[in-house]
Amino acid sequence: MSTKSLAKMTAFVYQIDDEFHDERIGDTHRSYESALQEVQRFVDVPFGVEPNCPPCTNWRKCQREYVIKKYEVNTSGRRQLVEETPVATVSAEGVIWHLAQTFIDKPKQIRHE
Ligand SMILES: [Zn+2]
Repeated sequence: MSTKSLAKMTAFVYQIDDEFHDERIGDTHRSYESALQEVQRFVDVPFGVEPNCPPCTNWRKCQREYVIKKYEVNTSGRRQLVEETPVATVSAEGVIWHLAQTFIDKPKQIRHE
C-alpha cells in the first residue's frame, strides 16, 4: 500500500459551532485556517446581524461562543470529534478572542495538528 492511499484513509473536517446554543454554523472546512477565517468574517459582522446573531428570542442579552470542532472522518464517512478550539465569544458588549492576536493575523504560520 502506498503512502498516498494510506493518507486517504484518514481525513479531517472542521466545523464552526456556536457552543452556547449547540448550533452548527456554515459548511465544513477542509482546513483549520479556513474555518478560522470564516469565524473572523462572522465576527466582523455587527452583533445581531446574521450569522452573528444568537438564535434565541433574548439574543440582545445573549452571546455566541464560536468554537472550531475538528472531526476525523473514517472511510465509511463517520465523524468523530477529536479536538475543540474556543475561538471567540461575541455579545452586545463586544468580542472576546480566545486566541492570541498573532494567531488571527498570521493563520498561515500556524501548524495545527
Ligand atoms: Zn441564547
